[in-house]
Formats: sequence, structure tokens, C-alpha cells
Amino acid sequence: MTTVSHTASTLPAPVAEALTKQYPSGLSSLRRIRLILGDQLNAEHSWFANPTAQSDTLYIIAELHQEATYAWHHIQKATAFFVAMERFSSALKQAGLQVLHLTLDDTRHSNGEPLSLTELLYGLASDLKVAEVGYQRPDEKRLLAQMNALELPDGVSKQQADTEHFLLPFDDIFKRFKAGKHQRLEAFYRYMRKRFDILMDNGEPQGGRWNFDSENRQTFKADDLAGIPQPLCFAQPVDEVVERLARHKIKTIGQLEGPLIWPTSRREALQLLDFFCEHCLPYFGKFQDAMTHNAKPSWSLYHSRISFALNAKMLSVQQVINAVLHRYYGAKGAIDIAQVEGFVRQVIGWREYVRGIYWINAEEYDHTNVLEAKRDLPDWFWTGKTKMACMRHAIEQSLEYSYAHHIQRLMVTGNFSLLAGIHPDQVEAWYLGIYIDALEWVEQPNTRSMVLFADGGWVATKPYAASGNYINKMSDYCKSCAYKPSKKVEKDACPFNSLYWAFLHRHQARFEPNPRMGFTYKTWNRMSDEQQQGILDKADNLLENIASL
Ligand code: FAD
Ligand code: SF4
Repeated sequence: MTTVSHTASTLPAPVAEALTKQYPSGLSSLRRIRLILGDQLNAEHSWFANPTAQSDTLYIIAELHQEATYAWHHIQKATAFFVAMERFSSALKQAGLQVLHLTLDDTRHSNGEPLSLTELLYGLASDLKVAEVGYQRPDEKRLLAQMNALELPDGVSKQQADTEHFLLPFDDIFKRFKAGKHQRLEAFYRYMRKRFDILMDNGEPQGGRWNFDSENRQTFKADDLAGIPQPLCFAQPVDEVVERLARHKIKTIGQLEGPLIWPTSRREALQLLDFFCEHCLPYFGKFQDAMTHNAKPSWSLYHSRISFALNAKMLSVQQVINAVLHRYYGAKGAIDIAQVEGFVRQVIGWREYVRGIYWINAEEYDHTNVLEAKRDLPDWFWTGKTKMACMRHAIEQSLEYSYAHHIQRLMVTGNFSLLAGIHPDQVEAWYLGIYIDALEWVEQPNTRSMVLFADGGWVATKPYAASGNYINKMSDYCKSCAYKPSKKVEKDACPFNSLYWAFLHRHQARFEPNPRMGFTYKTWNRMSDEQQQGILDKADNLLENIASL
């Protein structure tokens, strides 16, 4: 290829100016550009294996208005992605690669209107006269559709690469999963353990069992609270990015006061992983489902908080598993297998499983709503201003940290959304925006399938519906709540109780034949007509006044 000058640019002026600023002498012998999306920050990708022989390649890392606005993101989430992208650009440049890093200021048309991803790639390909545009297959349907639709100037080819992140190769999803059918997590998880030889001895599970759930699922006793570790938090200055988001009028939710606590480089992600192995892994399984608002801190507990680093691909699944197993085997019995198995199950089981469910059902997912849920999400989901202590704690901490652990998402906010019959689109918009780790491929199956049973059972054989009794058992929330978990219909009765029975009643025809729900329906059927009516009236009343719960 010939030397390319970008002075006579056909690109919108802001992009052309950024190009000139970053490469004032032009880019010589450029053959290809390669796109790196914000959740593709994988330094171990084979693209980067030989940085010294890539003078014909320009990597593109770009903040885009479309990515900042497709959901109403938490301010920490939007900031964390943009900062991590910037730091990844710098790391690649330091390794000797050519990278064009564009901010929201740059990815605009000359009239200031935002540039789409496809417009950017077309413009760059045309202007830089490359022969090839490379990209890693996006993990979200919306971006994959956009890349599939990308048209390029004549003679320029599109080259799709794998992200090389997941353990299960993408094509194998279509061999392991069936669209529209229930798939057992347990069968998939065992397959993954065997296939990747994780916690196995001669084809048998280490510890003699696949599942240690019965040892796990403990709650915090008063004495346990003081032992909960202070979380490792980072202190990345982010003023410039926050100011840029504000200047471009990107609407965000939640708080970000001071520096960012989340890891935004590979080094920090590895530090967080080390911290988890050292301080949290020994108790992970035991307290995996426990909730408290009395500990200091009460938001991080023994959870790893690596989901953002994993989903942005700063950490690989293999790195996580290696670190955890190294710590486990090195501890020579001091860490019991129930803790380690519980964690491995999340990472190679649930995480890879929901990705399979997402892709195999990609066509149908957005429209699933078999329970015909229609209600609007109450406004207090965005403020935390509710009298329900469990909901308040889960929502307030989500707004403060852009994080809640799994049981808060599933059994508190998720459970409420299910019981109250909130429309799946609105529940999804909330989960997709508020969490630091929220990307559709993992958020959608968790929200629509696991929480809302909107799919009719691709993931769960029965809905994860629970009364206040479950929350009372697994947490200390109820002790200081305005409502009482032991009451069903009184003024101060826990809303989860009547909503739970009303939900079961509403969907009796669907769920009563399910053998796993037979016992529950027997309890309901044993209640007198008067009792049942009292509960249903109470639930109706709560739903009519949902805004003030
Ligand atoms: P830990 O408790 O330390 O678990 C370790 C890792 O296991 C996590 O980092 C995650 O990668 C994986 N994992 C655990 N459970 C799941 C699961 N159910 N599905 C997929 N991976 C899992 N996770 C996301 O990464 N992004 C999301 O957008 C997301 N949305 C969710 C929405 C709902 C309604 C629910 C119920 C769960 C959602 N999850 C999501 C799954 C889970 O809640 C988070 O992965 C977890 O809370 C992240 O915190 P952690 O890293 O401390 O996890
Ligand atoms: Fe939540 Fe009900 Fe307990 Fe209050 S009483 S914390 S609303 S479960």
C-alpha cells in the first residue's frame, strides 16, 4: 500500500482532526483498521501477539454516543467503560501498536451530530484507503446486527475474529443449546467441568460431588459481621470523562463522587482477583446467598466484584479459574472445596450458560413476556425511596456503587418485579442501566428468564418467586423494616407476602401442574375462601398504591 496522508480528509472534521493530532506525520503503508469495542479489552487476544510487525494496522477505540445512550447507564458504568478504553489504548500504544483513540468530542459529524459506529468505520476505511476492516464478533445482538449491516467502500473486505474470551467456542453454542427449550444448568456445568478439566480427578468431580449447595447458603450471624473484609477499591481520577459525558448531555443515573472505585486496567483487574482469592474465596460459597445491611461494609461481602473486569474482558475466564485453583490447591486443605466449587459454578457454569441461552434464543428474547406482565416500574426503583428495607438497601447501594450482588438482584429487586408483574422491558431497562457489569448478553437471560420467567422456562423450571419469609431467613433486613415479615394482610404486613400468593393465584393454571410447585399450591388451596380473598384484596391494594410502598 502507499503512504496515506489524511490531510485531505473525507471524514467528518472532528475525526480527521483527531487523526491528525494523534498521527501528525500521517500513517504509512496502512493495510487495515481493526475495531476494538469497549467490552473487548482483551490484551491476550491473538491480534496483539506480535506488536512489532503491525505497522500496516491501525486499531480504533472510540467513545460513541450510541453506546453511551442505548441504555440509561449508571454514571460509574459509562465512566468505567470509557476510562478502561482509554487506558487500554495507552497500553497498546506502549506495546508499539498504532491506535486511534477517539472521544465523544471526536466522534461527531461536522455539524456536531453524533457519528454512528458504521459511519465511523466507513469513513475511516474510505479515508485511509485500507483493504480490510477487522472486528471481533460483538457479544450483543444489537452490535452484531450493526456489524453485519456494515457496508464498506468498494474493494474493502470485512474480517470478523473471535473475541477469544469465553471457554465454550461460539459455534459450540449451537451444538449444546436448543432454541425455545429448557436447558439444565447442571448438565451444562458438568459438561464444562469435564471438557475443561476443572476440579476433576480421573473424570470424577473433586470432593466426590458436583454440588455443595447444602453446605453453602448460610446466613450471617452477629459474630460474622465484623469479619467481612473491607473491599479493595481503586481511586482512578475520572473528572475529564465525567465532564465530557456531561458536556455531551449523556443522561446517566446514580452517583459518582470522587475517583472511580472499579478496576479499569488489566493490572487493577488482576489485583482485584488476587484480593478475592486471598480474602473472600475461603468464605465465598458459605455466604454466597447471604444479605445484610448491618455490616460495615454491607455491599461487597465475600463477592468477587470482578464481573465488570470479566465482561470488559480485562480478565479472562481462564485467568480467573487458574488464580482460584492456584489459591485453593496452595492452601492445602485450608480452603474447603464447597467454597471453590460454588465460585467455579458461577464462572464456568452460569456465566457461560446464560451466554448460550442468549444466543440460541436471540431472535425471540426481546419479545418474551409469557406471564403478560404489564405494570410500570415504580419510580422509587430510580431513587430507593421506599419503606421496604430490603428494596431500599438493594436500590440505594446500586445507585451508590453501581453494584448489587446476585441474591439482591434475584431475590429482592427481581423477586419484587416478578410478583408485582412489572413489564419485562422496563425491568430490563433498569438492570441494563444500573449495574457496572450490565451487558445485554448476560443481563437479558438473567432478567427475562431467571427473574421474570418471561421465557416460559428456558432457564428455570419454576419461577424464583418468594415471600418475605425467604428474605427474612437470608438477611437482617426485616428487623428494621416498617413492614413485618410474619404478617400477610395487616396494614404493616410485608408486601412480599400477599404479592407472592396473588402471583401464584394469578398463574395457577400454568404453575399448579408443575410437580415442583405442588406443595405450595396445596398450602394455598388449604386456605379458606375468606383467607384467600383477604390476601388477594391486600395485594390489589398494594399494587394500586405501589408508588408509596
Ligand atoms: P460473584 O458473586 O463474585 O460471582 C463471580 C462471577 O460469576 C461473576 O463476576 C459473574 O461473572 C459470574 N456469575 C455469577 N452469577 C451469574 C449469573 N447468574 N449469570 C452470569 N454470570 C454470573 N451479571 C453480569 O455480569 N452482568 C449483568 O448484566 C447481570 N445482570 C443480572 C441481572 C439480574 C436480574 C440477575 C439476577 C443477575 C445478573 N447478573 C449479571 C449475574 C450476577 O448477579 C452478577 O454477575 C454478579 O452479581 C456480579 O458480581 P460479582 O462479580 O461480585 O459476582
Ligand atoms: Fe423486605 Fe418484607 Fe422484610 Fe421489609 S419485611 S425487609 S419488605 S421482606
